Amino acid sequence: MTTKPEPAESEVGGLSALSEGRRKRIFVQLAAAAAVLIAAILSILAFFMVRQADLLRGALVFLLQAGTATLLGIAALSLGAIVILIVTGVHSGHWERVVRPMVVRLMLPLAVGVGRLIGISRDEVQGSFLSVNNALIGGRGRTGLEASEILVLLPRCLQWADCPHKVSQEVHRCQRCGRCSLGAIVEETESLGVATFVSTGGTQARRLVKELRPKVIVAVACERELTEGIRDVGNIPVVAVINSRPEGPCFNTDVDPGCVTLAIRELIEEGVDSERVPV
Ligand code: SF4
Repeated sequence: MTTKPEPAESEVGGLSALSEGRRKRIFVQLAAAAAVLIAAILSILAFFMVRQADLLRGALVFLLQAGTATLLGIAALSLGAIVILIVTGVHSGHWERVVRPMVVRLMLPLAVGVGRLIGISRDEVQGSFLSVNNALIGGRGRTGLEASEILVLLPRCLQWADCPHKVSQEVHRCQRCGRCSLGAIVEETESLGVATFVSTGGTQARRLVKELRPKVIVAVACERELTEGIRDVGNIPVVAVINSRPEGPCFNTDVDPGCVTLAIRELIEEGVDSERVPV
């Protein structure tokens, strides 16, 4: 049996490795561009209607102007908050509780749409959003977490496709043969005492979160699964680690185990902002 070479530990580890600077700007700039573009279209429509005023058109103009103001207000608040939270490092859970729901439901789809218009793929825009999310997990005033407060969720496709062990039922059935990156992650999370599961889909992941009620989730998956997962977990902080897909989607995917384990160690040593931890 061929053995996969031992993965090198990430040179720059922890959460900072998962929130690279240049990448964050793609999402913020596209979301701002989308808001301005849509606001401009609504304003132009209102402008032409206002010139032929009657009662019905007056009402439509009012709705268009109200929509424009609402969209611009949400964009300014959410994107301004992201910039302020990243620059100051003081966020006390505002990201998960207030800003993230607005961003993931409204600004992210708009940014993906504008990205598509100018040739930036959905994966790249969602990856940029995930960098923003990871940048906002850390912050000043953090307190370390217990290992039992962290939940690690790994995708089934991370397992070598020909592996005979049923790790989705029980992750500790992994024999750590080194053929896929799952073994090194399980080895580390087992020694740290962190609950680790191979998730077969969104439904199972949601059930695990509901049952275990973790204070932080460390999730490995593709951009789309991570974004949908973040949308589904309410206000729980999620450290998002994007897998690589050298053999195509959902098949023998890979991740740097050092990236995952260093992020977990950082959460145990430094935690998340104590005010942001959900109850
Ligand atoms: S899941 Fe474990 S036993 Fe199976 S191939 Fe990967 S490292 Fe080896």
